[in-house]
Amino acid sequence: MLALVTEPGHAHTTHVEDVPAAQAREGDVLVRTLEVGVCGTDREISEGLFGIPPEGDPLLVLGHESLAVVERDGYGFTRGQLVTAIVRRSCGHCIACAEGFPDSCLTGDYSERGITRLHGYARELVAEDPEQLVAIPKSLGRLGVLAEPTSICERALRHARTIGGRQPWQLERALVIGAGAIGLLTTYLLRLADVEVWTASLEPENELVEQSGARYISTRDNELSELGKFDLVIEAAGNAQLMAQTLGLLRRSGVACLLGIDPRHQTVELDGPVLGVDTILENRVLFGSVNAHRQDWLAAVDDLDRARERWPEALEQFVTLRVPLDRFQEAFQHRGGKATLVLSD
Ligand code: BGC
Repeated sequence: MLALVTEPGHAHTTHVEDVPAAQAREGDVLVRTLEVGVCGTDREISEGLFGIPPEGDPLLVLGHESLAVVERDGYGFTRGQLVTAIVRRSCGHCIACAEGFPDSCLTGDYSERGITRLHGYARELVAEDPEQLVAIPKSLGRLGVLAEPTSICERALRHARTIGGRQPWQLERALVIGAGAIGLLTTYLLRLADVEVWTASLEPENELVEQSGARYISTRDNELSELGKFDLVIEAAGNAQLMAQTLGLLRRSGVACLLGIDPRHQTVELDGPVLGVDTILENRVLFGSVNAHRQDWLAAVDDLDRARERWPEALEQFVTLRVPLDRFQEAFQHRGGKATLVLSD
């Protein structure tokens, strides 16, 4: 069975290899992978900067943004049904995982499909725990491959609403920094909730942003501070300097959420009075969010389908490159939209 594998910790070791076929044990559902999305985390793993293989195995099968089809009836699933799978699994020994919240794991000993201690979906067949499967409606079809990145945005927005909602607060005006998959999906989720959205990125224009009814602003020739202040700012560009600036872009009781990753060793600047005065006197919050809970996956699937109904043409433009497994390098180098690896039609 062909799989896209890598040796975590070792750059440029990603390759397609024949691996032993998946064995479905009692209690597993056997699924056939249709497609996996590629994101920054896959690139980081492939560059040797991230990822851990399963115990006793030097190689890790990649692929955490999955779309698959059920091979055999069982455990509430029927052959032919479209599914995706939750990425993070319990560490087995913390209260967050015990309460069913591995997305908030307190030890870091969790496993994540295709990232940490657990093989991913970039292979023909996967034996999966039915509790980790999430049904994808037929109407969503291949767009189901966007469920994982959407679940990340759903969790961020759910947490932002919880934090903002700790006191009387209205989410009227939001700024999304970054127009990659996470920035775009967040823009669409906020537009579904009729929030006034500005989305900012480096490119001169972005039609997909505008199709959602959000306003696009190029940061090449505009300062974010010229846009006024926001109830919510989401940083999805992965730039630590911009992350530091988000606090200064908030209205009273505003919430800023960091979703992008910027691992560069650097010192960033933060205006003294923004931190030392405004954040306190205006009850502002800056927080980070990773991964997603099952409720976020369910919301993601639901909202993606609602977005498809409302903006059918736009949603079809999110995936801009689909290539077979052996052309993974093209997918890893692709910029300007989501790239996916197609394993089966
Ligand atoms: C994935 C998350 C995961 C995180 C850290 C992201 O790319 O979407 O599910 O928790 O990487 O491993």
